[in-house]
Amino acid sequence: MMQMSTQRPAEDLLRAAPDVVPQASHHVAGGFVEDAAGAPIPVIYPASGTEVARLHEATPDIVERALAAAEAALPAWRAMRGAERGRILRRAADIIRERNRALSELETVDTGKPLSETLVADALSGAEALDYFGGMAATLTGEHLALGEDWAYTIREPLGVCVGIGAWNYPIQIACWKAAPALACGNTMVFKPSEMTPLSALKLAEILTEAGLPPGVFNVVQGRGAVGAALVEDPRVDKVSLTGSVPTGRRVYAAAAAGMKHVTMELGGKSPMIVFDDADLENAVSAAINGNFYSSGQICSNGTRLFVQAGIHDAFVERLAQRVERALIGDPLDEATNFGPMVSAAQLGIALDYVGKGVEEGARLVTGGRRLDRPGFYMSPAVFAGVRDDMAIAREEIFGPVASVLKFGTEEEALQRANATEFGLAAAVFTRDLARAHRVASRFAAGTCWINTYNLTPIEMPFGGVKASGVGRENGRAAIEHYSQVKSVYVAMGDVEAPF
Ligand code: NDP
Repeated sequence: MMQMSTQRPAEDLLRAAPDVVPQASHHVAGGFVEDAAGAPIPVIYPASGTEVARLHEATPDIVERALAAAEAALPAWRAMRGAERGRILRRAADIIRERNRALSELETVDTGKPLSETLVADALSGAEALDYFGGMAATLTGEHLALGEDWAYTIREPLGVCVGIGAWNYPIQIACWKAAPALACGNTMVFKPSEMTPLSALKLAEILTEAGLPPGVFNVVQGRGAVGAALVEDPRVDKVSLTGSVPTGRRVYAAAAAGMKHVTMELGGKSPMIVFDDADLENAVSAAINGNFYSSGQICSNGTRLFVQAGIHDAFVERLAQRVERALIGDPLDEATNFGPMVSAAQLGIALDYVGKGVEEGARLVTGGRRLDRPGFYMSPAVFAGVRDDMAIAREEIFGPVASVLKFGTEEEALQRANATEFGLAAAVFTRDLARAHRVASRFAAGTCWINTYNLTPIEMPFGGVKASGVGRENGRAAIEHYSQVKSVYVAMGDVEAPF
């Protein structure tokens, strides 16, 4: 049976630590700003369904101030030595680490994700990005190209004013994954968090300022899609980086294309995990749990299509269900809890609807998939078996704790079925056969692949999708390519010859 713990009100937490709560809705030009004329943005604690804070959407005036600040800050920031820019980012990383607990509690209140996760996966992952790209800032150089007597060199330049738009599942991580490489390269940024999780990006702006970031280099404005659209369409903006769903990605990409802007699109997925008969069963089940139920399943790269070979299939389903039923569901602020609520009533509704569709279409609900009788947006983690490729639960991104097990026979069949999707974010293979592991990884149509593990995204490793899952890469050296451009300079050493 699922276990549940009792609940601590988020209001108490926020009252107990008022310095944790951002002082105003927006952070522009190095300070908090408010404009109460903006439409209200209620912050709902997902574990209780109650409003714990209230912010305001950015008015056109706030959007204008943020863009103007980012534009004004650009010349001095890009002219600063990389080593100096990097020092500021690394200082911010240190402050984040020192305040990890407070930031994690804030993230838990905003997202509903259990503290056992946010303490290790959110602000700390953001700090890693600031450290990593901060360290790299001094090393960003162009090339020398020998051309006989003549020569050329390239200069790696920032793109200019960048807009970052975040999803609600990893708010501070997403803000850092975008800000760190952008700022390291000498760009400035206006960041808009999802209106569902507006708080932690403001704390990031506050911390960066404390670390010495000049005013206007990183600004945060709140708002729904229309605010995001206003940012993307502004002619002062040179680059847009979105983490969001495929439909939003298509809209934002099109708007950016009209202004010939650079884009990074980190979008959704329906990623496959292929488990062969020879795989270590316990490891494969652990990975399926991490890749389906961490953050209550609200992770873009989740391996929600579990292709399991016939010989190991029944044992896998049985073991997965047994272990999923041991999830400790409850108060996300209790560190023992390892499965929290969904982010919102709407997201809970979407996930429960998919459970209904799965049952209607004839899949076998092995465990979970029920709304829990307690306040907040809780459901039990669901495992379906007997899933066919044409079912909605196997084709569409659910973004909730719903895993689908699909049986397969041969490697060729598994690969064909795994790749038969519009998405291409991630994929994994579980086997003890070395050659097969690398063969399958090379044939996956996915941007990020794992062998015998799932969802590990260290900052050193590029992350991103192919096909409808997006363009561009975050993390790793690859991210630098998406926040800078190369200028070529040809140097003539002799006379100029002309035909007449
Ligand atoms: P959405 O696509 O609904 O929203 C993403 C962001 O875009 C939000 O800040 C949203 O604002 C904003 N937005 C919406 N419309 C526009 C517009 N026309 N112009 C500019 N901005 C706009 O995604 P969710 O927040 O619901 O996040 C879930 C999705 O994100 C899933 O599909 C998931 O797979 C994907 N995701 C991808 C990741 C990756 O790295 N590949 C990581 C995490 C999530 P608002 O919410 O305020 O409307």
